[in-house]
Amino acid sequence: MENTALAQEKSESPRVLLPDHIDPAKCYQCGKCTAGCPVSMRMDITPSQLMRFVQLGQVKAALHSLAIWECVSCQTCSARCPKEVDCAGVMDALRAASVTNETVAASQQPIVSFQKAFLANIRRNGRLNEIELIAQFKTDVFFRIGRPAFLFKDAGLAPQLSKRKKLHLVSEKARDLGIVKRIFVRCSDQTEK
Ligand code: SF4
Ligand code: SF4
Repeated sequence: MENTALAQEKSESPRVLLPDHIDPAKCYQCGKCTAGCPVSMRMDITPSQLMRFVQLGQVKAALHSLAIWECVSCQTCSARCPKEVDCAGVMDALRAASVTNETVAASQQPIVSFQKAFLANIRRNGRLNEIELIAQFKTDVFFRIGRPAFLFKDAGLAPQLSKRKKLHLVSEKARDLGIVKRIFVRCSDQTEK
C-alpha cells in the first residue's frame, strides 16, 4: 500500500504519512468515533478532534497529544465511521510521526519503549520471549527516566507468571525466521515510501 504525504497548512509543520485509503476530508465530525472509543475518557484530545486537526493540517497539537498513546488500536472508530474513514489508521500514522519528530511526551515514553522492545523481540525470535522483552523494556525505560525503582516494579508478579507458564527461561525461535524477516522488510519499505 502506498503512502502519501498529507498536505500541511504550514510548511514548518511536521509531516504525517497517511495510507492511500485514508481521506480525512471525508470526515464530517459526527463524533461516532469518539462516542464508541473505549478509552476516550482518558484522552486529552478526542478521536474526532484529532481527525479535525489532521483535516486542517494542524498536526503539531495532535503529535504532542497524550491521546494517540492512549489509543489501544481496537478499530472501533474505523468500524463505526459512517464515512468509512479509517480513524484507527490515522492514530497509527500520528504515533509514527510523533516518534519520528520526537514529540512523544515524557510520560508516554514507556509505551514507545515497550512497543520497540516488543517488535525487536519478534524480529529476533519470530515469537515472543517474555524474559528478553521485560529485560529490554525495563533497561530502556531505566536509562530514559533514571529511576532504579522502575527496574524492579512488577517483579512481584514473576512467581505468578511463572506458575502459569507465562515466563519462558529458554528462548525459542520460530522455525522459519526468513518469513518474519521478509514481513519486517516489507513493512519498512511501505512506511518509508
Ligand atoms: S466517525 Fe468518521 S465522520 Fe464521524 S467524526 Fe469520526 S472520523 Fe469523522
Ligand atoms: S482504535 Fe484507538 S481511537 Fe479508535 S476506538 Fe479504538 S482506542 Fe479509540
